[in-house]
Amino acid sequence: MKNSRMEEIGKVLSEAESILVFTHLNMDADAVGSSCALVREFRRLGKKSWVLFNDSETADNLRFLLGDLTTDDPSVIEKPDVCLAVDASETTRFPRVADKFLSGKIRIAVDHHEIKDTDWEYNYIDPSAGAAGELVLKLFDVMGITPERGSAEALFAAISSDTGNFQYNNTTKETFLSCARLCDFGIRPNAVSNALYECVKPEKLRLQSEAVSRMEFLLDGRIVMSCLTEEMYEKTGAVPNDGEGIVAELRSIKGVEVAVLLKEENGKTYGSFRAKNEANVRVFAELFGGGGHDKAAGCTIEHSMKEAYPLVREAAVRHFSKAFEEMEKAGESIGWNS
Ligand code: AMP
Ligand code: MN
Ligand code: MN
Repeated sequence: MKNSRMEEIGKVLSEAESILVFTHLNMDADAVGSSCALVREFRRLGKKSWVLFNDSETADNLRFLLGDLTTDDPSVIEKPDVCLAVDASETTRFPRVADKFLSGKIRIAVDHHEIKDTDWEYNYIDPSAGAAGELVLKLFDVMGITPERGSAEALFAAISSDTGNFQYNNTTKETFLSCARLCDFGIRPNAVSNALYECVKPEKLRLQSEAVSRMEFLLDGRIVMSCLTEEMYEKTGAVPNDGEGIVAELRSIKGVEVAVLLKEENGKTYGSFRAKNEANVRVFAELFGGGGHDKAAGCTIEHSMKEAYPLVREAAVRHFSKAFEEMEKAGESIGWNS
C-alpha cells in the first residue's frame, strides 16, 4: 500500500458531488467525531453527504455529535462519487455496509491504524497520529476549510478520547497543536469533556463493578483479566456498549502492565486489550486475527466465552511471560510506577 498525499485526497473530495463516509463498528468518539465533522463540512460545501453507520446504536455520551448527519440506510446515496472510510480502512471493520463502500466510484481511507493488505484508490494512513481526528483536521487544512464550531468540537472529542484525554503515548506535539488550532474555531473544551465523560450511567458503573469483582491477576499482577457476560448485562441492566472504557479502568490498577477484558456478544467473544508501559497488545491481538494499536487492541473470537476465556488466559500468560522476560533483558522498565 502506498500513501497518497493529503493534497491529492483533498482535490478528489473537492471535486466530488456525493460522499458517503464510513467508520468502524463499536464506534468510539474518534469514529463518530471524525466522520460527523467530515459530513458537516462536506455539506457546507454544498455536497450530498452522509455518515453511513455500520451500527444502529450509538453510545449515549456520543449522541450529541450526531445531528442529522448519520444514517443506517445504504440507499441514502444511490451511487456515491466517493466512499471515504475514516478511523478504519478495511471493510472487515464495517461488515454490514462493506458492499456499499465497495460500490463507490472512488474509495479512500484516512486512518491511523496499521493496515495489512488493503489498498484503495487513495490511502492516507498515519499510525503516528493520536486520532483520526488529527488527520481530518489536516484534510480540512489542505481543502481550505475553516470548520464551524460543531465540527471543531467533534474533532476535539475525537482527539481527546483517542489519546485518553491526552494521557496515552500516542499524545504528541501534533496532538496539542491540533487542539490549539481547534481553539481558534471556538471549541469549548470543558463543555465537550463534560458531555463525553461526566455522564456515566449507573448501569455502566454497576457493570464495571461486576467486572472488577470478577477480575483475576496473572504473572504477579502484571496482567489483569476479567469478562463481561450476558448474565452481567442482565443483572445490571447495562448494554454491551456500556462496556466501553472498562478495560482502561482495569489497566489503571497499580502494577498492572496489561489489561484483558473479554466481552460476550451473540455467542462470540470480543477481546479488548490495553498495555501501560512497554508491552505491545497489538501483537497479542493479532494472535487471534485482530489488531489495533500497540497500547490498545482488540479481536473477535468465534467461540463462546466459556471456551474463549481459558484460551485467551493461557495465551496471555504464555505470550507476555516471554515478552516481559525479553523486555527485562533489554533493560526496559516494566511497571516502573508500581
Ligand atoms: P477496543 O478495545 O474495542 O476499544 O479496541 C481497541 C483498538 O483496537 C481500537 O483502535 C480498535 O479499532 C482496534 N481493534 C479492535 N478490534 C479489532 C480487530 N478485530 N481488528 C483490528 N483492529 C481492531
Ligand atoms: Mn476508533
Ligand atoms: Mn481512532
